[in-house]
Formats: sequence, C-alpha cells, structure tokens
Amino acid sequence: MKKQDFRIETKCVQGGYTPGNGEPRQVPIIQSTTFKYATSEDMGKLFDLEASGYFYSRLQNPTCDTVAAKICELEGGSAAMLLSSGQAASFFSVFNIASCGDHVVSSASIYGGTFNLFSVTMKRMGIEFTFVDPDCTEKELNAAFKPNTKAVFGETIANPALTVLDIEKFAKAAHAHGVPLIVDNTFATPVNCRPFEHGADIVTHSTTKYMDGHGSAVGGCIVDSGKFDWMAHAEKFPGLCTPDASYHGITYVEKFGNAGAYITKATAQLMRDFGSTQSPQSAYYLNLGLESLHVRMERHCLNGLKVAQYLENSDKIGWVTYPSLPSSKYYPLSQKYLPGGSCGVVSFGVKGGRAAAEKFMKALRLIAIETHVADARSCCLHPANATHRQMSEEELIAAGIPGDLIRLSCGLENYQDLIDDIEQALNTL
Ligand SMILES: *Cc1c(COP(=O)(O)O)cnc(C)c1O
Repeated sequence: MKKQDFRIETKCVQGGYTPGNGEPRQVPIIQSTTFKYATSEDMGKLFDLEASGYFYSRLQNPTCDTVAAKICELEGGSAAMLLSSGQAASFFSVFNIASCGDHVVSSASIYGGTFNLFSVTMKRMGIEFTFVDPDCTEKELNAAFKPNTKAVFGETIANPALTVLDIEKFAKAAHAHGVPLIVDNTFATPVNCRPFEHGADIVTHSTTKYMDGHGSAVGGCIVDSGKFDWMAHAEKFPGLCTPDASYHGITYVEKFGNAGAYITKATAQLMRDFGSTQSPQSAYYLNLGLESLHVRMERHCLNGLKVAQYLENSDKIGWVTYPSLPSSKYYPLSQKYLPGGSCGVVSFGVKGGRAAAEKFMKALRLIAIETHVADARSCCLHPANATHRQMSEEELIAAGIPGDLIRLSCGLENYQDLIDDIEQALNTL
C-alpha cells in the first residue's frame, strides 16, 4: 500500500515522518538556527537552489518541513510550508502571486483578520480586492473579475458567519479567468473537506485552531495542489514564469514544475524577506495535535450538532446558525462539501437582544469567555461586546453580526454538560 493511498485517519497519525532503523519514533525537534557544511561550494549549491538542504531556519527547518509534509498529505497536495500564523499564511498565499497594481476577488464572508489584511493593509501595498457575496450567482461572480485579477479567495466555512463556500462555483469562475482559487480551510480541516478534490488550487490554514486543537501554539500553513498551470497564463504570473533576479535568474516553474514552483517561490523569496517562520517547538506541538485531529473533529462536530439542535428547540433562543442543521440555509452545500460534519462552532442569538446576550454569558459556568475558537475547551464570544464593540448597532447589522450574536465553540467535553450549562444560563434570563 502506497503512502498516498492511506486513509485520512492514518495520515493524521503517521503522515510526514517515517523514521529509519533506530531513529526517534516521535518527530525530532531540530532546535538549530543553522546547519554545518564541509565546503563553501556545498553551501553555494543550496543558495543557488541547485541542491535541497538546510542552511538557515528562517527559510526552512527540518521539523517544520516534516509537519508541513503531513498537512500536505492530508490535503492531497504537492508541496506545503508552515508559517508563524494563519495571518502570515493568508498574506503569503496572495502576495506570492499578486503585486502592486494587481486585483483579487474574495468572498466577503471571511475571517475578520483576513478582511482587515486585504481591505486595509494589502490595499496600502497597492493590491485591490473586490468582495463578493459567497451566495452570489455565477454571473455576479464573473462580473467581479478584471484584466489584472490574479487570484480568488474564500473560506470553506467562514469564521464567524458560518457560511459554506460553493468551492466548485468559485473554482470554475477562477479557472475561466486563468487564475487560481485559494481556500482557507481552517474550520473544516482536511478531515471534513479537502478543497483540492473540488477544484481549489491552493489551501491555507490557521493551524492555531483545530489542527493544534489545544490552544498551545499559533501557526499557519499553505498547501499547493500542484495542479494550476502557471505557464498557460504566464503573462499574469511573471514572478513564477520569468527569471527571478534575486535568485540568480531562476524561473520557478521551469526549475520546479507546477508541483513545486509556488511553494519554492514563497519560501525562497517571501520567507527569506519577511521571516514569518514557525518555530520547530511550535511545529512539534502542532504535530501532536494533528495526530488526533480525526478523532477530535468527530467529537467537535457531534457536540456542535447536539448543542445546535438543543438551541433550535429552545424558546429562549431567537435564531441558530450551524451548517449541519437540516434547517440551515447552507445544509445543501454542507451535504455536498462536508458530508462527514462541519465544525464545532455554532452561532445563535438569545431573545432579548444585546442585554440578554450579556446576562446569558455572565451566567455560564463551564463555557468560558475567550477570543478563541476550535479549542478542546468550550468557549464563547459576544462580538458586539468584545471584538466588534466599537461598531454601532447599524454597522453590526451591515457586517452580518447582529448585537445578539453569540459565537460558541464546542470543545471536547460531554455535550450534555454543555447543554446543561447553556440551560442554567438561559434560565437566569
Ligand atoms: C484564526 C483564523 C485566521 C488567522 O489565524 P491566526 O493563526 O490567528 O493568525 C485565519 N483564518 C481563519 C478562518 C481563522 O479562524
């Protein structure tokens, strides 16, 4: 049986690392900034990208590469890299193929941090974004493209709106315009959805969430499917298809093929210049999380569904959003893309609006108030009173975050204990 034929559970446990005789069973932490060579010529070959090997951990480290290789296997990609955070992964994934004067089409339903990165910081770098409703028609989606569009971006399950991306619709539009689709697969994880199987070209992750799963280490990852034909659209992607003067005139696609060009360029150029590296210690923690990802996702999804069903039937609750609920607007898309489950995050509104939401959250005993999701411990957040508190009632509604919205991340506890905690808190209203 070949490695790539193993099922996802086996890849979670054993992917990326195959120790030789007498070597450590667990992934070794190579806590070294630098690597020794016998001659300058040997090292020169690495700098020229003529040979592969390690020379400085800002660019590459063996522990990080081992864990990236596991995530690459999980997603079914051709190459992958770890980064210091999900934000760094989102930034690199776009900046690797878009520069000043370029344009990107993005779903409007994305993580708030990504929205800010795109609409404020990358705009300052001269990259323009058009945000589209993820539920738009194909016609509306196609109308968002411009001659200088270089990529399309979306989230499998958006944080916190919990919209489900129609990956095939977005991939079709991207490919019709000769550009790749980048999908942030953080909330679904490759256990529940592998966007490459639906036409996505590049996948990003905030590994801080379910992949780490224990609130231990901030991190990010980018995986390339290796399927996008850059040379077929060479005029759009000069950075990949013409010589890189900062790397001795190497043309990435010629030298590394479609399977390796994108990640090699992001490592050799962007990681060299921005240094958003993940530490080997963090990569080790991430790998511990990945070893149980398949087991944990099943429980996160069970707890999410049970809590969503309870909330849906409570007369103290105004509304519930959870993509795996048959009553959800996104149920058909989640049946298609997330048949095994979606995630552990549920959004809902308590009757009585913002004041009731605050009272309810104060009364919770087991579920903690945190600016975090996708952790083993259940936690919740009231955006109108925390992350989005500077917004007016009208601005909150325009942003799709009503004043009563509570985002609840169901952890790995017994779901009846979560429901009991919710019920006692609701009874105080
Ligand atoms: C948290 C998150 C990010 C940002 O990741 P960090 O690791 O916090 O930098 C990006 N996308 C999604 C969907 C997230 O939930």
